[in-house]
Amino acid sequence: MTDIDTLIDLLTRKGKLVAMLAPSFPIVFTYPGIITMLKSLGFTYTAEVAAGARVTNEQLTKLLSGHPDKRYITSPCPTLVRLIKRQLPQYSHYLTQGVDSPMIATAKIVKEKYPGYRPVFIGPCFVKKYEAREEAPELNILVLTYTELTQVFTHFNITDDVKRPEDHFDISISGLTKLYPLDGGLTKSGKVSDTLGKNAVKIVSGPARNIAAIKEFDADPSLRILDILNCDGGCIMGPGIQSKLTVDERKNKILSYFVQEESKLSGTTSAH
Ligand code: SF4
Repeated sequence: MTDIDTLIDLLTRKGKLVAMLAPSFPIVFTYPGIITMLKSLGFTYTAEVAAGARVTNEQLTKLLSGHPDKRYITSPCPTLVRLIKRQLPQYSHYLTQGVDSPMIATAKIVKEKYPGYRPVFIGPCFVKKYEAREEAPELNILVLTYTELTQVFTHFNITDDVKRPEDHFDISISGLTKLYPLDGGLTKSGKVSDTLGKNAVKIVSGPARNIAAIKEFDADPSLRILDILNCDGGCIMGPGIQSKLTVDERKNKILSYFVQEESKLSGTTSAH
């Protein structure tokens, strides 16, 4: 059974489901139209993964301040984590331990707030399916890409015709973690350069640069952290996004959503 079939089956059986939308969603969907569509599909609640990203940042900050002598490679990108563990195991000690990815952190928030509900992560990346299964099986996260979700909408004949401007995320957050899918989104939203100094942080994205960047990081002790993502430009160019938009146009979609929503939310995780 594919993950599309699994979601269709769960929705048909009126399963208790929470949709968790990765912060790159504005490239593919409009807000709050996507919330209306997800609720029409049968999701009871919706969560913004930017909320979990705040937890990721807090955990990373704690790790950095608790271990001032150590250097780290960030690990929210499961493709990079697998690359290092399989092809470059001599560098795996740099991967952050005890720092949840935004997906896993959001699923933990969902499980605590809505016991008995299954988290469904919807994002730009099919490799997240492996992360969910292998690194957090106890959370039972179902992972679909945006492209797969679109097929589920088509199956149930859900369109964006219905407008309910009052719809909103049930779990959301204000602040810079909405910019997480841009390269450097983690360290910029976590203000890591403010703490460590900008020369201690290296930001890299793209498969052509990754391996060299990891080796350069290893060889340069002045760097405390390597913020690295596998896709060129970050998760905005993830393989689970079907879009003809350029990198800059995708960035602008993320920035527009950030500006649009920033004034509406308070400074903490909110549950409406
Ligand atoms: S950078 Fe690409 S491969 Fe890595 S998590 Fe984002 S979409 Fe997936």
